[in-house]
Amino acid sequence: LAYDAAAMELFFNPRSVVIVGASRKTGPGSFNILENLLAYGYRGRVYAVNPRASDILGVKCYPRAQDLPEAPDLAVVTVPRELLPEVVRDCCTRGVRLFIFVPQGLGEADEVGAAIQSEVLETLRRHGARAVGPNTLGTINALDGFMSSFMGLTRNADPFPCGLICQTGLFLATDLGQTTSLGKGIDVGNQADIGFPDALRHLAEDPRVKVIAMHMEGLRPGEGRLFLEVAREAVARKPVLVYKTARSATGAEAAGSHTGSLAGSHEVYVAAFEEAGIIQLKDVDDLDDTIKAFVFLPPMRGRRVAILSISGGGGIMAADACDDHGLRLAEFSPETRARLQEMFPSWMTVSNPLDVWPAAIGKEYDPVFATCLDIVAADPNVDALVCIGGSMGGGVDIGDFVVEGARRWGKPVTWWLYGKRAAAIAAEVESSRCVPVYPSADRAVRALGHLATYYLDVLGRRKEAPVRPVGLPRVERGPGLPDAAAGTNGPGLRARRATVRAMGAEAFDLLRSYGIPVARWAVASSPQAAAAAAASLGLPVVVKAVGGNVLHKSELGAVKLGLATPEAVLEAAEDVLRRVAGEGSEVRLLVQEFLPGGQEVILGAKHDPHFGPTVLFGLGGIFTEVLRDVAIGLAPLTTDRAHGLMAKTKGYAVLAGARSRGRSDLEALADTLVRLSWLVADHPEIVELDLNPVKVFAAGQGCVAVDARVLVRSDA
Ligand code: ADP
Ligand code: MG
Repeated sequence: LAYDAAAMELFFNPRSVVIVGASRKTGPGSFNILENLLAYGYRGRVYAVNPRASDILGVKCYPRAQDLPEAPDLAVVTVPRELLPEVVRDCCTRGVRLFIFVPQGLGEADEVGAAIQSEVLETLRRHGARAVGPNTLGTINALDGFMSSFMGLTRNADPFPCGLICQTGLFLATDLGQTTSLGKGIDVGNQADIGFPDALRHLAEDPRVKVIAMHMEGLRPGEGRLFLEVAREAVARKPVLVYKTARSATGAEAAGSHTGSLAGSHEVYVAAFEEAGIIQLKDVDDLDDTIKAFVFLPPMRGRRVAILSISGGGGIMAADACDDHGLRLAEFSPETRARLQEMFPSWMTVSNPLDVWPAAIGKEYDPVFATCLDIVAADPNVDALVCIGGSMGGGVDIGDFVVEGARRWGKPVTWWLYGKRAAAIAAEVESSRCVPVYPSADRAVRALGHLATYYLDVLGRRKEAPVRPVGLPRVERGPGLPDAAAGTNGPGLRARRATVRAMGAEAFDLLRSYGIPVARWAVASSPQAAAAAAASLGLPVVVKAVGGNVLHKSELGAVKLGLATPEAVLEAAEDVLRRVAGEGSEVRLLVQEFLPGGQEVILGAKHDPHFGPTVLFGLGGIFTEVLRDVAIGLAPLTTDRAHGLMAKTKGYAVLAGARSRGRSDLEALADTLVRLSWLVADHPEIVELDLNPVKVFAAGQGCVAVDARVLVRSDA
């Protein structure tokens, strides 16, 4: 369904609301939505529907929705699932167009629940109504003063300018770190109707929201590209963070190729988030830490970090963390060094990280630390600062000083604070909302790393659309991107797997039509024909089996390399046919030019149920199979992204010319990846594809695919 800005606004900020199924039980432990809403200070008109009560907490109850004196903007429905279809019909008849469905046990549960959910959805569609949930706490909006949660929550008078989209009530209704200070939050629950794209777009378009955080278990099938489109626009305006869970579902589906097993759904999510510029977080701490960092800190202009520590050891921990999180140690300017050196004993050469302690021996620590900070923060070579230590109870209140300084310096400052009083000092410092405090060096640095990713990588990146290489076959229907509305790549995929077939030698024709270099080949039905084909291709050749049920040819002994004479070809062809005798009557002989040498890499492609066509790159052999050293990208690719993809693998160093090895033809590989990405984008019927191996030769010498395995839906 099309995005409905007005509906999204009303989900968060309705002028009137009815609680259907409002409970008569009130007080602690009653989980009473009506009670919570009133306690939250909601100012709109409130109605309740409960046939067994005349009023609850002073709110008049109506027996049914039809009896309501007006059609409220929003109905929060909290009734047993069996009653849901009737309640929704009643409400729709009364003119209600927006719903929050609280109950569990619907689409996420059993078949009965799924049937109820689709019946309800049908009613909604008939009336042009929209819904959040089911299985949700709904929305919380501290900015305007509305909440639908059955868990009580006090309205934060001064919330963070942050919006959260989640798939659990955990974040919306508990004291889970920063998320209690949220400006706006929505639990999308089962996403029966409203899902991540709508919620994200709403938060992106609310100018009061400066940071968007997401806890995501998964998108709806077929919705990936729509989500990415919305996400790209969102990240151009404000940072978007995601903590993706349910990772272990990876590879749950049996895969029919290398690419199938390597490009599990989690890996594709990771690739998609990266492509959209969404910051990916590791866990709940990371989520909390990073929200705080983006809310408190100014943009980061570079990656050079200064570390000021109460101890040398702490400084080294932070320096290591810089390495881990893509940051560099700032090199102090000569002036900075000179000014600092005056404060330190002559036996110590000042450098970054700066161990402040020696300067403070025999003095009060805090003022010395404060002076060092001021000097370092003024250095134009410093983009951000990490402070390590605690207040030593000296003459200057170091907390105040750092806060006051951070405002003046205009550079991001994070603080690793430890010790008994840390929590109390942290709370005070953070009340300033300009210096976030963390419980470890790693977390203090990691937060800056995310800042750098957003302000430097995401906002700084060239935004290029993939360009279709010239000479590709014309496609009438356009690239086969999944259609969100129709969910064409949705639940049907599993069923389709059963009807997947492998292409035979015609796969090479398809590849060649996209300009993907393949070893010159001929197909033969008999050893004699193979020998004739070898003669016209030119010796030496390779003979292998193709078609039928042949899967792993080498394992069957059905690949014969380096055949240099007609006799050798004949003999090899006879042997191959013997070995694949049981693999079906369609097995043929494939005669190929023999291409010795080169480095073997794997290029793959897969149709992902969420994000559609994807490509994969790896170094092949042990790199992919044992180390899973592969990179995945969404198709189609730009040439830049193709290079970036390859560079993400560890094996890339081998291709780029590690040690005495020469550089491989990376340009040819990138071009092949781009062409492959268009091929799979054009052909949604391709379920999985492996070019394993592609042989890549020295720079300027090109690359050639010698083996192809293409699985297509056989109804295509
Ligand atoms: P399979 O993967 O089914 O075992 P391949 O066609 O990939 O069969 O062949 C196995 C290996 O033989 C390849 O990984 C490659 O090392 C080598 N090989 C295959 N075809 C050629 C060729 N035309 N030139 C040189 N080496 C080849
Ligand atoms: Mg192979």
